[in-house]
Amino acid sequence: MAEAYDPGNIFAKILRGEIPSHRVYEDDAVVAFMDVMPQGTGHTLVVPKAPSRNMLDADPATLGPLFAVVQKVAVAVKKAFNADGVTLMQFNEPASGQTVYHLHVHVIPRFEDVPLKPHSGQMEKPEALAENAGKIRAALAG
Ligand code: AMP
Repeated sequence: MAEAYDPGNIFAKILRGEIPSHRVYEDDAVVAFMDVMPQGTGHTLVVPKAPSRNMLDADPATLGPLFAVVQKVAVAVKKAFNADGVTLMQFNEPASGQTVYHLHVHVIPRFEDVPLKPHSGQMEKPEALAENAGKIRAALAG
């Protein structure tokens, strides 16, 4: 049987505004904010508001709105950082590398010959996250 959703997970706390995040986008169904341990400059997480652990237990109705925002954010980060490409990642359960159990998609700008940093590696400075969030918000605004 699938594990139950835990409403005490860190992204649920971010969605409820109980802990801070550098938000770049929000609508009725989806929020996007900066990953605090980025694997590359501009690493953003796109998170549906509806609770599910991951893709395995998600309501299919959440996936359309989620991936519409993933696309918007992917286009915006590519523009914001003048990136050569964008990597999308999404993990399901510990064996896959998932560490936070609320569905989310990683959107990471990529540059020729620049490898990704380790997953859940080093904390980024808040000032750098704030600056990058500003660039992404500007790109999203057109
Ligand atoms: P995953 O392995 O897909 O569950 O990845 C969870 C991601 O969340 C990692 O890339 C972490 O760096 C990131 N993360 C953990 N805590 C926070 C937080 N408070 N705010 C933003 N990102 C976080």
